[in-house]
Amino acid sequence: MPLPSRLIVTCTLVAAVLMIPPVTAKPDPADAAPGSARTGAVEPTGGPTAALPAGTTAVSGGARTAAARVGSARPRGVLAGKVVVIDPGHQLGNSRHPRQVRRLVDAGGFRKACNTTGTQTNSGYPEATFTFSTARHLKARLEARGARVYLTRTRNSVKAWGPCIDVRGRFAASVHADALVSVHADGTASDRRGFFVIRPADRKGWTRDIYRESRVLSLDVRAGLRGAGLDYADYVGGDGLDTRGDLGTLNWSDVPAVMVELGNMRNRRDAARMRDARWRSGVYAEGLADGLTRFLTR
Ligand SMILES: [Zn+2]
Repeated sequence: MPLPSRLIVTCTLVAAVLMIPPVTAKPDPADAAPGSARTGAVEPTGGPTAALPAGTTAVSGGARTAAARVGSARPRGVLAGKVVVIDPGHQLGNSRHPRQVRRLVDAGGFRKACNTTGTQTNSGYPEATFTFSTARHLKARLEARGARVYLTRTRNSVKAWGPCIDVRGRFAASVHADALVSVHADGTASDRRGFFVIRPADRKGWTRDIYRESRVLSLDVRAGLRGAGLDYADYVGGDGLDTRGDLGTLNWSDVPAVMVELGNMRNRRDAARMRDARWRSGVYAEGLADGLTRFLTR
């Protein structure tokens, strides 16, 4: 169903000119409850598991290693012990809840809407559905490598909205994540295409503690996506990278964080790929998994 056009907001290109007030203290992330009844719950779907992740095998008898003796029930894989939060951008029902979604929240020392509807392809495939599908594929790939993975939203429904950007950003620290990746797709002029990775600007009191590591994360994620065969965006930066100080999800994060715009949903070629489940799993999720693995195994 087409979204009301007046509600469709391009994710990154439409940035209001913001007056950034003096820096305020960043609240302790421990205060941040991961969601609430009003904001739309953040529902962790990861969690410790005793089961070995798919694709791993138990250590056979004979040459028992110290690791095998100590942690025989722990997940194994290159990402064992690592925690990742994936933030699937937007929510399918945001357009049906304009009052809630437009509510202003603290986005990093300034006020900004709780969330936006996201964009869609010309044929009506919504960004929220693309980001949710890609996030689930990514989650499976990371778990297969041994990571514990949480999503900031665990359903994609026209009945749901949110969570707000501040809740999304704060959630990663509350589960002691090693990295946060926020998954989006852009909606800009139809002759433009490609992906880019957004890292937080250095903002005292907000991102000063994470911007350096986030830069490293952005380079690794860019390398992963490039390695999967995707092209840098031909309308932002030129090198597949962007830096932003006005994104609440990144500003609120207390762990290394990036936001990815995986393509332009208004471009015919990018849109055809994003609508294809094989591309979502085999290219977008695979590239993100490889980039995160680079970062988490440094
Ligand atoms: Zn978006």
